[in-house]
Amino acid sequence: MISGWLFDAYALNGSMIFWIKKDNSSTTIRVEDKSWNHKIYVASEKSLLKSIIENNEILSMVKEYHFISKYELITDTKKSQVLELELKDPTYSLKLAKKIEKMGRFGQSRLYNVDILPEQSYFYEHDVFPLMKCKVHVSNSTLNWVDNEDDVWSTEYELPLFNNIHLKVYPKTKEGRIPRFTDVIALVSIQKGDTSKDIIYIQGSEIDILYQLVKEVEKINPDFILTEYGDSFTFPYLTHRSEINQVDLILDREGIPLCRPKKDGTSYFSYGRMYFKPSATKLLGRIHIDTDNSFVLNESGLQGLYELARICRLPLHSASRASIGKCMSSLQFYNAMRNNILIPWKPTLAEHPKSLGDLLIADRGGLIFEPIMGAHEKVAELDFVSLYPTIMFKKNISAETIICNCCSHSKLRVPELLNYHICEKRRGIVPLSLEILLKKRAYYKDKRNSTSDPELKKIYDARQTALKWVLVTSFGYLGFNNAKFGRIDAHIAVCAFDRQILLQTLRIAESQGFKILHAIVDSIWVQKKNLVNNDYKSLKTEIENKTGFPISFEGIYKWIVFVPSKSNTILPVSNRYFGVFEDGTVKMRGIEARRHDTAEFISNVQQGILNIMSEANSIKEVRDLMPKVRKFFQMHLELLRYKKVPINDLVLTKRISKDVDEYKNRNTVELDALLQLKHAGKSLKSGQILKYVLTDYYRKNSRKRSVPVELINSKTVYDAKRYSELLVETCNSVTEPFGLKLTNEL
Ligand SMILES: [Zn+2]
Repeated sequence: MISGWLFDAYALNGSMIFWIKKDNSSTTIRVEDKSWNHKIYVASEKSLLKSIIENNEILSMVKEYHFISKYELITDTKKSQVLELELKDPTYSLKLAKKIEKMGRFGQSRLYNVDILPEQSYFYEHDVFPLMKCKVHVSNSTLNWVDNEDDVWSTEYELPLFNNIHLKVYPKTKEGRIPRFTDVIALVSIQKGDTSKDIIYIQGSEIDILYQLVKEVEKINPDFILTEYGDSFTFPYLTHRSEINQVDLILDREGIPLCRPKKDGTSYFSYGRMYFKPSATKLLGRIHIDTDNSFVLNESGLQGLYELARICRLPLHSASRASIGKCMSSLQFYNAMRNNILIPWKPTLAEHPKSLGDLLIADRGGLIFEPIMGAHEKVAELDFVSLYPTIMFKKNISAETIICNCCSHSKLRVPELLNYHICEKRRGIVPLSLEILLKKRAYYKDKRNSTSDPELKKIYDARQTALKWVLVTSFGYLGFNNAKFGRIDAHIAVCAFDRQILLQTLRIAESQGFKILHAIVDSIWVQKKNLVNNDYKSLKTEIENKTGFPISFEGIYKWIVFVPSKSNTILPVSNRYFGVFEDGTVKMRGIEARRHDTAEFISNVQQGILNIMSEANSIKEVRDLMPKVRKFFQMHLELLRYKKVPINDLVLTKRISKDVDEYKNRNTVELDALLQLKHAGKSLKSGQILKYVLTDYYRKNSRKRSVPVELINSKTVYDAKRYSELLVETCNSVTEPFGLKLTNEL
């Protein structure tokens, strides 16, 4: 019997491998399950199923097959007979599925559970999860997970002490040149733990560095290896150098030398934007985390990652790289599998036909009450807590419950949409999956606010942040027809409930004598003359009692400004504001200092101006501060104009939407930088981020109007004129509402 924490899991040579981390020691034990088989499912006509099980090539990949009953589609109310194929090797599923797909006519066979990772399937079937405190009994290469005291619902779980390193590799590159795979390794640094006190530097000949690196990693035996750009640069580069030096670069716990990833990275489209994902380098038995390729880690750190991996039952390696949608779908797959529902390989749910009237209503989205532009005093903000997911949870909205086949006379109707009803008999997969996220997040938020231990506060906050992100995207995911259980009708129903709730809220506020300044989706901003302190409390109570949804009182702004949107931004009109709460906290949305594509220097100056303004208690007091603001601005404008600003603070960023070769518009500063990069040997793919500095913005027909950061050298000079224009524009958006118009004159 082995006890400890389930640390890593993967399929290798036909079986499942698990690493169990022992109680607070550096020992990690490898166990193997040879008896478990990964399964995929096929539904089709009897004749085709028969030829599948008589095909020798297919049989060579299959250990056993059965005909069993499962729900083929999430919307089905009856089970159907499907063919279950148990695979000889868990990694065969895609190969096998493609072979089967080709056997019949197009669409003749329907395949299920094909793109579920074997690790995920194993976790779901055995009801185990990453970082579970477990006991496992090993006999005859079979694992028996016994007596599990840990549970994904647990909020006060214990974790072992992990051994982490940060790995950095420095190629020998001249200044202003892009590191290439042909450059030799100059230096490797290994930082132990999270402080920079304990760093090992490895230098010498390249071959020595590589040997030394393998030796150090073996000696330290880390659980987590953290890198920055490990997937896109560090490991592919190290692999290349080790091949040239003919060194077996063994950094994992299996003793398998690192090799090149089988495919290049991929560009993909999500929520209206292109993203790029480099191929991941997996170190079996250890967890490689690329901080540049991990949304979860950047938003909520390792504690957030642990929580997500546990709840969503995704191996740590995959969880660290997963989009939030992927976390959500893993949670849904678990609930589907536990309920005997198959997971389609390719999306299959069609939209319900809609009347023109329904379409018009459906198109409305969430409710927006346009803001009253300009500056206002003593404004309160109230936000519904996770409103969309709470609607889905409370109203039981899911792909299979909206306009269900089983209860067309259901009393549960969707507001405004006469033809929409909700199932009365079944709990939907989406609400079922959201329950754990909503309940655990509420608990962690509570604990974060009530604990006095700063370390615990940090942990609770990281966990609630990670869960918040899954909740935030759960709505978009619901309407995403490519999601396995997504359906636009469910999305439309949520919006309809939202409009009803928000309208109800506005009426309550008005009936209590509040003036509404702005409302959007799940937030309202209200104001009241001759306010009595208890007024907000009674507003909050009445909203919660009448709508049935929790709302939080965010606070009172001393002053707040709603700013008109810029014509060229894709943000909705109502999403730009800044203001200062009574405790001095500045809050802003949609304005430059918060945007990632604003140069750091410029956003710092805007932030500095807001900090000066935050001292004021009224609109008049802000106006009185304008001379001070002007002075502050002027000082920074001078720095900029006299070229005293470090060039690294002027970097602009842009996520590119096409590969460099696909740009047809041959006249943008971004393209200038992209082409220079390409010339230097680095072609960016769509979805990757371009970082560049403007050098000669107004010069026509020049290829040197901008320069990518990789090619900046000591001679690079920024375009002071253009940057000062950007500075003026950015600062004016916060000073103009108070009557101060800045210019770029010294
Ligand atoms: Zn029903």
